[in-house]
Amino acid sequence: MNLEIVNSKEREQFVSKRLIVKIGSSTIVKDGDPLNRDFMDNMARQISGLFRSGVEVVIVSSGAVACGRKILGDIGTTTLDNQVAAVYGQPELIAQWKASFSRYGVHVGQELLTDEHLNNNRKVLEDSLKRGVVIINANDPVNDLEMKQFRISADNDRLAGDVAGSIDADTLILLTDVDGVLNKKGELLTHVDRLEDVEDIIKDSGAGTGGMWSKCLVAKQAARDGRRSIIANGRSEDVILRAARGQNVGTRFIPGYMFY
Ligand code: GLU
Repeated sequence: MNLEIVNSKEREQFVSKRLIVKIGSSTIVKDGDPLNRDFMDNMARQISGLFRSGVEVVIVSSGAVACGRKILGDIGTTTLDNQVAAVYGQPELIAQWKASFSRYGVHVGQELLTDEHLNNNRKVLEDSLKRGVVIINANDPVNDLEMKQFRISADNDRLAGDVAGSIDADTLILLTDVDGVLNKKGELLTHVDRLEDVEDIIKDSGAGTGGMWSKCLVAKQAARDGRRSIIANGRSEDVILRAARGQNVGTRFIPGYMFY
């Protein structure tokens, strides 16, 4: 167990009390290794600090397909192939999450969901969050629809938004590998109010490829529902701790007037 965390962060009061962190495949897998274990250890350090201070945390973790594809090596790209990859990737993913959190003495649970489960999952998830950190992913092997969408867009963003809604989380953080929503010069927009003001910028930029616009839609909806809603870079230092303290990280979404 990491005593530094226990001693220094245990009694810290955070602004967030119930937080959903979504981590995408490109952040979690690594060249030459199925998973970016250092990154996952770093996430576990921050989230364990939160958990010990009484903050409930769900990680919506992608990476089953990408990790499984690396493990299996020689596999095609059909929906069926990706489902098979998820069969092999998900256990590897959860094993690493367990290993990362065990360094800090925090239990890790897992839920693999499809849309139909979301509505009757609230009580189990809320009770589970009192005992440890819950990792959620889509149940890809049995979910043809999700997998077909996966070929087009990163839809764990939507899943994270839906989970946030189902347990009324106060904070949603969508982590990506760029600093947030960027303008045409590549500069960070610290907040987004009207989505229509950034639609062209995002669709032209290619940053966070393809997924950024869908992230913005999810983040905006969460803001509208009264959550602190942030898109940020998973690699910026202590990003989750700083967000949970209410500090400015990444792009914050504001529930003001909007067309979308
Ligand atoms: N459920 C997919 C996986 O774990 C990822 C889908 C997504 O990133 O949106 O590989």
